[in-house]
Amino acid sequence: MPLSETPHPDGPAVIRSRRVVLPDGERPADVLIQGGRIEQIAAHGSLLAGDRHLTDLGDTVLLPGLVDTHVHVNEPGRTEWEGFATATRAAAAGGVTTVIDMPLNSVPPTTTVDGLDAKRKTAEGQAWVDLGFWGGAIPGNTGDLEPLHTAGVFGFKSFLAPSGVDEFPHVEQADLESALAEQARIGALAIIHAEDPAVLEAAPQQPGVHYRDFLASRPDDAETAAVARLLDTARRTGARVHILHVSSAAVLPLLRRARADGVRVTAETCPHYLTLAAEEVPDGDTAFKCCPPIRDESNRDALWAALAAGEFIAVVSDHSPSTPDLKLLKEYGGSGDFAAAWGGIASLQLGLPAIWTEARRRGHSLSDVVRWMSAGPASLVGLTGTKGAIAVGNDADLVAFDPDGEFAVQAAALHHRNPVTPYAGRTLTGAVRTTWLRGRVVDVEGEPFGRQITRS
Ligand SMILES: [Zn+2]
Repeated sequence: MPLSETPHPDGPAVIRSRRVVLPDGERPADVLIQGGRIEQIAAHGSLLAGDRHLTDLGDTVLLPGLVDTHVHVNEPGRTEWEGFATATRAAAAGGVTTVIDMPLNSVPPTTTVDGLDAKRKTAEGQAWVDLGFWGGAIPGNTGDLEPLHTAGVFGFKSFLAPSGVDEFPHVEQADLESALAEQARIGALAIIHAEDPAVLEAAPQQPGVHYRDFLASRPDDAETAAVARLLDTARRTGARVHILHVSSAAVLPLLRRARADGVRVTAETCPHYLTLAAEEVPDGDTAFKCCPPIRDESNRDALWAALAAGEFIAVVSDHSPSTPDLKLLKEYGGSGDFAAAWGGIASLQLGLPAIWTEARRRGHSLSDVVRWMSAGPASLVGLTGTKGAIAVGNDADLVAFDPDGEFAVQAAALHHRNPVTPYAGRTLTGAVRTTWLRGRVVDVEGEPFGRQITRS
């Protein structure tokens, strides 16, 4: 249940906490909300009521809402995998107040303005949180990029290896050159799934239930070869590029060198790469399958070191669910074959507690988590000044978070459409108590009222 309803959602309201996570650190404060925005941040206890509705959180922490720039909603076209209502409901329950939807797995994909319009029309009235869209750059649609950008997409996703769905083909080198040259010209952000198809083809392909065989089929080299080729192309075209879901720590030295060389490159990683490890994946448990794959514990430690050093701009979910039968899950009568199962992790509602559980163990603060999961992704998509921080003038997207609240994950109790997640059965620390979107409580009650946002 929410800690408090806000009875006059657009009237003045104060949220008070002894632990407010602000851009310059955590301190006691009163946050005044008016018209859906943060109007004032004042000393704890100083903004007394009058006609203002007061929510006093006590020691419960107040965080800015998370910004998740990597979510596959899959609607329209594969709505049985996921949809706007269920995905954004899960987001709200997990403290995520802004979702940017990926351009593929929906049919049509977001590779034309018509595709974008289909998405927007379908999403209308279904979103619990604010929602934006990525476009896609595929072979042959270079001419669609500028109109899509003008229509407000946040940038363009391309795959360097097969994406898993036929209607979103990967780019060969010549397609990549033309897509990046065009994106440099129009000032768009290119976001890239970086695995190299030649390395994947050369790797041993051993189907079956053993996770180590699946891992061997998608080696570190597939990521490093793809990233090296991408960085070279970015350098020559001048495009701004972002590496999606870095799984292998072996790519980090390449990114460092390219940055030192003036290439405009950022990178993200995901909760599953930071909190799960190959050693603990049970045979046949395809809920853990994603591409690139979850690697070993020493790699996970190296990703944490890079995160601590500021080498990742964002930690985002890559929520990419499908139906249990396509996951080939054994409890649904499937084979548990990692090679044949759909690759994608469902975790939108769990990113914050999963990361906090591991971050705390490693000595990090909630300010660090906010930098990785809220301010960082907001800056990636140009939303700093609207989203990603408790700051005057920003949208009042807020989360009441109990950093000591423990819970056991039950897949069927999560709000995303299909009851599958690799976190099932785990005990996580950190519970979202209430989520506010533009000053209104959204995580449990009320009607959807997220709005569609565009790149400005
Ligand atoms: Zn993805």
